[in-house]
Parts: sequence; C-alpha cells; structure tokens
Amino acid sequence: MVTKSTLKKLAKEHGTPLFVVDHDELRRNYAEFKKYLPRVQAYFAVKANSLPAIVRTLYKAGASFDVASMPEFMIVYENIKEMPAKQRQDWIWDKIIYANPIKATETLEQLDQYKPLVTFDNSEEIKKIKRHAPHAGLALRLKVPNTGAMVELSSKFGAAPGEAVDLILEANKAGLVVEGLSFHVGSQTTNFENYVQAINLAANIFKEAKDRGYKKMNLLDIGGGFPAPYDASVKPFRELAKVINREIDRLFPKEVQILAEPGRFLVATTATAISKIIGKAVRDGKLCYYINDGVYHTFSGVIFDHCHYHLKSFKKGATQICSVFGPTCDALDVVSMAENLPDLQLGDLLYSENIGAYSHASSTYFNGFPPAKVVHVNQ
Ligand SMILES: *Cc1c(COP(=O)(O)O)cnc(C)c1O
Repeated sequence: MVTKSTLKKLAKEHGTPLFVVDHDELRRNYAEFKKYLPRVQAYFAVKANSLPAIVRTLYKAGASFDVASMPEFMIVYENIKEMPAKQRQDWIWDKIIYANPIKATETLEQLDQYKPLVTFDNSEEIKKIKRHAPHAGLALRLKVPNTGAMVELSSKFGAAPGEAVDLILEANKAGLVVEGLSFHVGSQTTNFENYVQAINLAANIFKEAKDRGYKKMNLLDIGGGFPAPYDASVKPFRELAKVINREIDRLFPKEVQILAEPGRFLVATTATAISKIIGKAVRDGKLCYYINDGVYHTFSGVIFDHCHYHLKSFKKGATQICSVFGPTCDALDVVSMAENLPDLQLGDLLYSENIGAYSHASSTYFNGFPPAKVVHVNQ
C-alpha cells in the first residue's frame, strides 16, 4: 500500500483533489485472481476503472478485457496495439469480449471488422447482430440469482433459463455461432451460493443444448461480482475461488474455456483519494466539513455504486461524528453523514482508501468542478 507520508508528499506536489493509483496493488490483485482461479482467464471489466495506464498494466500481467461500449473497446484496442508484438496474443477473442447484451446498430457495424465476441439475451438482438455484425461470435447472457449482491444486475439483462436453448437454436438457424454462456451474479457478491447456482444453471443449459443437437458450446463466462475486501466481513477470495473451482471442475470438461469479468475485485483496493477541507461549519450542533471532492466526482460510488467510503485524517486527536460534504451546490453532494474525525482546519487533508472501482470512472464536470487529478505510483 502507498504509505501515508507518500500520500501527503503527492498531495503537496500535485495538489488536490488527487486520485492515487498503485500499480503494485493492481498486479497483486491480478496475481491473486490467477493463483486461486488458475483455470479462469480474467477479462477486466473496463467500466470499473477505464484509465489507460490500468489497462496497460493488466495487459502486461496477462489479463484480457470486458468492454461495453465502442469508446471502451477503443481504449483497450489502442493501448494494446502499442504493446510489443510478442506480448500480443492471437486476439481479438482472447483479449476482448464485448459484454453488453444490447448494442446499437452503429456499434455492431464498427465492431464487425474485429470479428468480436459479443453477448446477447434476446431475439431482436440476434436479428441485429446477423444484419450488422455477421462476423461476431456469440455468448448468451443468462439471468441468474443476484441475491444479496451490493449492486443488482439481473433485472436489466439476461435470458430466462427456460428460453435459453430456444435462443441459442434461433441464433444458430440465423447462421450465427453461439460459443457459450455468460452471466453476472451481481456486483460485490458476498453470497457465494449465487455462483454455485449460476454455474449449475449454465451446466444444465449446456446439456439441454447438446440434447437438442447443438454441440458448438465451448465457453463459459462466469462474469464479475467478485467482492473487494472493503471490510473484515468480506470472506477471503480464496474461499470463494474454492467453491467456484469445485463447481466448474465437476460440471465442465477441460475443453470448455472458462472466462470471468472481474471489475471491482481487480481495482477497488488500488486507489486512494486525497481531498482538502475547504469549508467548515456547525449545523444543528453537528460539525460539517466541506471538501473539494464529492459525489459528482471521485465519490460517485456513494450514489451509483451503493458504496460507502470512510474519510481519514492525517492528524490525530479526539474525534467526533461529523458530516462531510462535496464542493458543489447540490444538497445531494453528501459524501458521508457520519465520519469520526478530529477537529481539523481549513486546508487540512482527508484521504479515502479502497476507492479504485466505480469512482473516478463516473466523475463529471458538474458545477464546473473537474474530476480529480490522477497520479500513478509503482507503474
Ligand atoms: C459491471 C460488469 C462487470 C464487472 O462487475 P464487478 O462486479 O465489478 O466485478 C462484469 N461483467 C459485466 C457484463 C458487467 O456489466
């Protein structure tokens, strides 16, 4: 981890708000994923943090990528393109999956030249793909239980298990090749049973497809959802990995390629946000700090990701429960209503750890305040 003295030094050198990304931590997270899930190729979900430097470090470590828009596709494509050829595998399927089940026709037209692997979950999408990206390979996105996930995803995407094989056969009839299945158990899934149920559902659909004469399925994409260790209540990754390995080895022969799309797990712990206290007031008896970063910026996860970040002070002293507000004029811009902080002065710094996922990636320019400056360490 980046030490407190390094954080202070960086803030002094670069100013605030600052978003510090530790690439050693990024490599450690990727290595941990591979160590405990050796059979699974990790396609980093770029939406969790789309900084090109992160894409490059993960590529060098051996990762592939999950993208969900043409700009994300190009971030990966352009950054991989510059890499020495020996590090470039026989992509594009090896390196990129376009995992948004709904794609605009313009997007399909642009993607087709790359012969991409894309997901789908409905009949209209089959027609669209056939017409606008006939060279694409397909993976059917299944709807699976998202019980207890911090961010639920099953209400928006996924074919019901009962219609899955019909859709596979329909795509096949249209002249497309369905390579396999994908699912997402919900982000920050601490209920490991979601993975067990989803892998078993997928195995049943593989079997039904085979029984009904479709034998080209060779890929299972177990999606994202792997929980980041935000607090001690999150069980260690190796325990989840043990459950996943048991199920995939039991249900899927070695020839079936297993992919995953970890987002949060790879990047959450890699970044620290440093902000400055720009205002201070007592309201209804409660001490309120105003900082120069907020929910329209690095703390966007408070709104979009149902995530709570703790603010820490570099200074010691008796603490009290405070509110911490962002810099914009919107009353929604509340970073926290209950942080334990000492009595601080204007100009003092605060920092928040484990803020690498779904944070800077959804920063805006609202109210004229630009996103935090990014610095990379141990790159
Ligand atoms: C968001 C998303 C991911 C990443 O999810 P995490 O919970 O961050 O691991 C992976 N795949 C798809 C299709 C997604 O939409």
